[in-house]
Amino acid sequence: MKTRARVVVVGAGFGGLSTCKELVEADVEVTLIDRHNFNTFQPLLYQVATGGLNPGDIAYPVRTYTRKHPNLTFRQETVVGVDFDRQEVALDGGGNVAYDYLVLAVGAASNFFGIPGAAKDSQAIYTMEDAVAVRDRLAEMLERAASRGTKPGDLTVVIIGGGATGVEMAGTLAELRQMQFKTTYAALSGSGAKVVLVEQNDRLLGPFDGRLSEYAVAALRARGVEVRTGESVAEVTGGCVTLGSGEQIPCGLVVWAAGVGPSALTQSLGLHKIRGRLAVRPDLRVEAYDNVFAIGDVAADAEKPLPQLAQPALQGGAHAARQIQRLMAGASTEAFHYKDKGTMATIGRRSAVAEIRGGIKLTGTLAWLAWLGLHIVFLLGLRNRLSVMINWAWRYLSWRKTPKVITGG
Ligand SMILES: Cc1cc2nc3c(=O)[nH]c(=O)nc-3n(C[C@H](O)[C@H](O)[C@H](O)COP(=O)(O)OP(=O)(O)OC[C@H]3O[C@@H](n4cnc5c(N)ncnc54)[C@H](O)[C@@H]3O)c2cc1C
Repeated sequence: MKTRARVVVVGAGFGGLSTCKELVEADVEVTLIDRHNFNTFQPLLYQVATGGLNPGDIAYPVRTYTRKHPNLTFRQETVVGVDFDRQEVALDGGGNVAYDYLVLAVGAASNFFGIPGAAKDSQAIYTMEDAVAVRDRLAEMLERAASRGTKPGDLTVVIIGGGATGVEMAGTLAELRQMQFKTTYAALSGSGAKVVLVEQNDRLLGPFDGRLSEYAVAALRARGVEVRTGESVAEVTGGCVTLGSGEQIPCGLVVWAAGVGPSALTQSLGLHKIRGRLAVRPDLRVEAYDNVFAIGDVAADAEKPLPQLAQPALQGGAHAARQIQRLMAGASTEAFHYKDKGTMATIGRRSAVAEIRGGIKLTGTLAWLAWLGLHIVFLLGLRNRLSVMINWAWRYLSWRKTPKVITGG
């Protein structure tokens, strides 16, 4: 009896799910493995962290998808290694899963760049657990200050990293501060609460056009964010950030949004890496093995490393799936060609920046509406789309009337 080729996909993020989607009609058995049984829509993690959305709004249960396709099996497991010669992935609970083709789509991890105290005393914002922890900490800070009073710095949030996540986090927190202190925590309005955004480069939103970076700085400052560009972080301790200049910023919370690096699994695989990412050939296969692909954040082509964004993962996942089918048919593989559809970042209500294909650059309300629409479209699952739309409609249409409260767990 003919047995079907076994494809193992590790990681149910944008890349892994995109691979699966392209294989549902193929003559293969796919095993999708992820340590979580849900997909996290990372672009909206900051909204969970600031209490605008609930965790379930941006989590998509993987089995909702796999149950519809008989050739897909999901296993909630953590992969701890790969034996490339035996063609097996090792699971942390013991046991192995054998493959004929392997797709590594395990993403990245927060990177603290070895800065003293950063891993211990700052709060990353990379996973759902991270976002919920930030939300709970913010709620606790506000309630504690409201009932017990504050000392300088207690209500200061320092955000490290002026990329899209740092900018989005800073803008939203500054708006919340304005609204909450008017409606809910009036007693805290003279407390000296601050939002400080620290970026070591000379400008925010590095990959964006310079004019959009300038717009972002102006929009953040208009919301009362203290923007500190050209400043490195030397140390983080509980309650204080020390800058490279020696200046100390007392604070109640440090949010780490300064970049990503390799996960523990990626580091342990013994494969060639480029700046911590698995080196891939133009067809997205890793250098040493012809039946192993790496896609999305975990992978980089030495000639043209792609940005660690959703689109390269989505497109790379589909490409890897097509190459597996070509190899099974005895054909040679094709090179991956990325189609850049543009990037966006939001600063707050009616304020965003967008660089769209064809060199179009948008700012302000138009960019913000485009940002809202695109995120609704790309969210997985009808329930999540409806839930996010209702939450946003409630939040933005009742902007001045209803209190914006962060509820902790
Ligand atoms: C806060 C934040 C905001 C972002 N905003 C944007 C944005 O606005 N626009 C944009 O385009 N991109 C954005 N990104 C980047 C985008 O989310 C990533 O580029 C994209 O998710 C990469 O997809 P991926 O499939 O490679 O990895 P991921 O989506 O990270 O998926 C990796 C999966 O692998 C699983 N996994 C990891 N290790 C193991 C293991 N050992 N065993 C089992 N499972 C494992 C994880 O649980 C995860 O589900 C943002 C990222 C973050 C963190």
